[in-house]
Amino acid sequence: MNYTESSLEAEREAILARQEAASPLEPQAQRRRELATKVFDYADAFLEKLPGMPGFVPGGEHTEVPLQLSEEPQSLEPLLQQLGATVDHFGINPASGAHLGYIPGGGVYPASLGDYLADVFNRYSGINFASPAAVELERQLVTWMTGLVGYGEHAAGDLTSGGSIANLSAIVTAREAHNIRAADVPINCIYYTAQMHHCLTKAIGIAGLTEVQHRIVPMDAFHRMDAAALEQQIIEDRRLGLRPWLVIGSAGTTDTGAVDPLDRLAGIADRESMWLHVDGAYGAAFLLCEEGRRKLQGIERADSIVMDPHKGLFLPYGSGAVLVREGHLLAKAFAYEANYMQDAVASESRPSPASLSPELTRPFRGLRLWLPLRICGLAAFRACVEEKLMLARYFHRRIAALPGFEAGPEPDLSVVTYRYVPEHGDTDDFNRRLVAAIQQDGELFISSTMLDGRFVLRLAVLSFRTHLNHIERLLELLQENAARLQCEGRV
Ligand SMILES: *Cc1c(COP(=O)(O)O)cnc(C)c1O
Repeated sequence: MNYTESSLEAEREAILARQEAASPLEPQAQRRRELATKVFDYADAFLEKLPGMPGFVPGGEHTEVPLQLSEEPQSLEPLLQQLGATVDHFGINPASGAHLGYIPGGGVYPASLGDYLADVFNRYSGINFASPAAVELERQLVTWMTGLVGYGEHAAGDLTSGGSIANLSAIVTAREAHNIRAADVPINCIYYTAQMHHCLTKAIGIAGLTEVQHRIVPMDAFHRMDAAALEQQIIEDRRLGLRPWLVIGSAGTTDTGAVDPLDRLAGIADRESMWLHVDGAYGAAFLLCEEGRRKLQGIERADSIVMDPHKGLFLPYGSGAVLVREGHLLAKAFAYEANYMQDAVASESRPSPASLSPELTRPFRGLRLWLPLRICGLAAFRACVEEKLMLARYFHRRIAALPGFEAGPEPDLSVVTYRYVPEHGDTDDFNRRLVAAIQQDGELFISSTMLDGRFVLRLAVLSFRTHLNHIERLLELLQENAARLQCEGRV
């Protein structure tokens, strides 16, 4: 062996030693099965306990979470136990049907299997060339969604991580569609109500549009945009030489579930050559049922729509969608060129997701949606969104009839506002204590908001696991706690 050969041999040995040391990254069949069995058993035990679990466990801010990184591999059981004692314990339990606050979560089981498979084969769904069938599956899911909102064949869309990013894409698309450049920003006007989701305020800022003229349009008694006031404001702005550009409506506001008068907004936007964006992150999935279609009538006339499958389609967190009626405008906003991608994009007959999105590399999000839709069947989803509307209406009727309680307006969708009016003392303060008492108890989780300067309680029904028994129990808990607080108030 000459010097070169022995040094090459040493080099090979050193490389192989690293390969050996990295081998825990590739568990073999038996080990994989062992790991998977333990994880699936843990998940099953969680799901079996779930119906008896609280909707909220207060505290936990100072829990020691076990990061405990070490150089050596560790066994799985203690890690699962640690998860169970910490992450799966404190705070809101979004997998539970007892979550009736904010906008409840989902987590249909087949979605987790879709994620599992997508993670195992790790297909690159950002570019046609890299995984034509993964891209096509997602494209067809988007087409199903554009069909659901009533768009035609020119529509396009993108599966995002959630509603905030989807809304950002829509705002950027609206900006590019109307060729708004930095110098023109201050002469353009945006119209929305005080109930617009704050992620749109963020999106406007991120899109470089902070300096537009913001017009906060008044609302009616149902917290829907007042279309006549919108028209009036547009006339005034034109008179001032400004450029009315964008109307943002909500297909279900987060706070009260109110649906803006979409058809009227579309008529105004049409006539004024403005862009209409509709944020349906919470509400658009109600289009799956007849009543929802009636309530959201006109949504199909919007230029762009956002929906959140991780809300109304009951997926686990991580799924939003932006839908654009004239799909080429989405491509106009996000098309790009990159030399190193030349062979991937040269032959494209249709835009890749990366050309319709701020993202390049992204998870293969289609499977988590496709699998539940196929495995459960659409009828189950339709029934479930309908059940949510019925539960909200049922609660509204019941709470309005309970002595001492006062219900907000008849719900447009599945959010109900209400409060207790005590015989003595401050009403806001009483309701603050009432929501705190129910949160402290934790069996069910509800939240509150400020509406027209008043502290009110909210019921939001959106989890696929929330059923009539939860609503009946909430009515009991509200009465018990209100009665107790009344008594305490008297002494
Ligand atoms: C939840 C929600 C959003 C934000 O979506 P994320 O998925 O949380 O990012 C936007 N608009 C409305 C109406 C929502 O309910």
